[in-house]
Amino acid sequence: MTRFQNRTAIVTGAAQGIGAATAALLAAQGARVAVVDLQLDRAEAVAREIRETGGTAGAFACDVTDEAAVTEMTGRVADEFGGLDILVNNAGITRDNLLFKMSRGDWDSVLATNLTSVYLCCQAAQKYMVEARYGKIVSLSSRSALGARGQANYAAAKAGVQGLTATLAIELGPFNINVNAVAPGYISTAMTAATARRVGSTVEDHQDRAAQATPLRRVGQPGEVASVIAFLASDEASYVSGQTLYVNGGAR
Ligand code: NDP
Repeated sequence: MTRFQNRTAIVTGAAQGIGAATAALLAAQGARVAVVDLQLDRAEAVAREIRETGGTAGAFACDVTDEAAVTEMTGRVADEFGGLDILVNNAGITRDNLLFKMSRGDWDSVLATNLTSVYLCCQAAQKYMVEARYGKIVSLSSRSALGARGQANYAAAKAGVQGLTATLAIELGPFNINVNAVAPGYISTAMTAATARRVGSTVEDHQDRAAQATPLRRVGQPGEVASVIAFLASDEASYVSGQTLYVNGGAR
């Protein structure tokens, strides 16, 4: 309960999946958590569940690709919860297609949501973190950063997150701010269920195939990523910065 006592955390894309699991875990370990997502009612449902189990959480509607909205949301969180210590850049989308069929719109929206949003949120958050000489930033990359058929846009964005992470660790390190990324493999969420449907598979078959290609012979669960994010956001990882940690069941 005391791991994140007196810490304020923002988790983006926290209405479901890995973000919701991360928000719940940080709150269970003492953080005041801002549950940020596009739709206020869906964010509020996650925040309410956290409060009902004794945690502190509030819901904030914000499109993380919108610079003005990000600045406003970050300011409101810092005002209402007192400062900002932890930023988890989790919001993400996929718009898969082979390169020759990929529209400019799908390229742009994936880059905006998965990469530009990380730049915007980090820029807004660092103001509070630099002033406090304390901060933890954890961003979601992906195993797809190493290359994934049909995901040129997503792979480019998630590889970009790794470069951004390495660079911000250099720039923000002197202010006692740790900047890291996690790169999950196949995690059972709405995102991977949508991928299964798109390729004409059942969720079960799609997961079975992914499991067979994974040394641990199963897909991951949101909580198994959340626990690594929480570690990187904690003082137990105080000398870890600029890293991308793969959370993928041993897959190569
Ligand atoms: P989900 O699709 O389940 O959840 C993502 C959440 O982000 C949704 O609630 C979504 O809202 C929200 N979101 C989308 N766009 C925005 C935006 N512009 N502003 C604010 N919120 C937004 O994803 P996962 O939990 O599966 O994934 C979480 C992160 O982990 C993503 O960055 C993803 O790329 C990454 N990841 C996931 C893997 C997996 O196997 N699941 C593997 C590797 C990385 P809405 O539903 O309304 O669009």
